[in-house]
Amino acid sequence: MQELMFLGLFVLALAIGWFLGRREAIKVGFMLKPNGSAVDRQYFIGLNYLLNEQPDEAIETFIRALEVNPETVETHIAIGKLFCQRGDVERAIKVHQNLLARPNLTAPQADRVQLELARDYLAVGMHQRAERLLEELAGSISLLRADALVDLVTVYEQQHEWQRAIEIGRRLIREQPQFGVTLAHYHCEMAVAALQQRDVNQARSWLQAALKIDDGSVRAMILLAELEEKAGNLKALPSLLQRIAINSPEFVPEVLALARRCADNGALNLTSYLDQALAQPGQPPVKTLLARAQQMCGERGREAAEMFMLQRLEVQPSVAGVLGLLELRDDGQAQSEVLAPLQLLEVLQRKRPQYRCEHCGFAGHSLYWQCPSCQGWSTVKPLKGHELV
Ligand SMILES: [Zn+2]
Repeated sequence: MQELMFLGLFVLALAIGWFLGRREAIKVGFMLKPNGSAVDRQYFIGLNYLLNEQPDEAIETFIRALEVNPETVETHIAIGKLFCQRGDVERAIKVHQNLLARPNLTAPQADRVQLELARDYLAVGMHQRAERLLEELAGSISLLRADALVDLVTVYEQQHEWQRAIEIGRRLIREQPQFGVTLAHYHCEMAVAALQQRDVNQARSWLQAALKIDDGSVRAMILLAELEEKAGNLKALPSLLQRIAINSPEFVPEVLALARRCADNGALNLTSYLDQALAQPGQPPVKTLLARAQQMCGERGREAAEMFMLQRLEVQPSVAGVLGLLELRDDGQAQSEVLAPLQLLEVLQRKRPQYRCEHCGFAGHSLYWQCPSCQGWSTVKPLKGHELV
């Protein structure tokens, strides 16, 4: 079915291209002869192949029949692109190479063909050739230089060549400031590699550079907080944790364990910290609410903590919240008749996804900084625990 649709589209594209080419040729005063030109004959031979269900031969003949002139260049580019999308990259390369060899292309047309040819090479894994074409385009004054930089940075990203990706990303950010979010992640990747080499100072400077590029990079903040804790630099932790609470309160549960350790060492007031996180606009994560209730339980007793949770659950009902409330009430002597249903509820709760991509909807139990489904950076966010999923 898909094959048929492709063929239909292909023939339509060719027919339009052929018509345009023919019109252009008439304008310049050649081609039409009393008995039909060579182009006409090629076209009908192609049609014959198509009727005889020989699509490959038909395609070859149609391409030969389609004149390359300023009005049909776009059709040729589209045909090559269609081949590439269909997986017939060899043929796409042939079409685009053939086009690029034409001396009568305008500079923007040549740039478009060069970009498409580079994409063909990428599709078959001929990275060096693709990189050469893309580098040339990226260094030019072409309007497509940002597209070339995006393609180049994607290649290095896929190969985990973070240093090269950063070099290209720094050029791309001048054209597309929103690329800063991704560029900060590349710096975080370098920091993770430095940490694996136990080079704390190098890792710290990569993370500080990430925050300079994207001051809202929660990944850089979390990594830096973990690094400073390991380095015994506890004084640096409160300001980092507070930045997370203010900029990205949905990520507070990710640093709760660290915040608790920090509080145990006397470097952070956990109650104030949680209050600060809960004061941010929007509904807070259930885990932050439960942590605050546990603090309250220790400070003002179980009843006050239960009241706090009940009030918040009325506004923001959730299974996780109810389970947390029951845990607060549990004195270790849970009634046997409610134990089994409670355990079932806990199993159901554990099965719920904890994270979801805001771009493609991918959901899972792990936090990915790059979505494994749509490859978006910073698109996977922690679920707050009260969503109806
Ligand atoms: Zn996604």
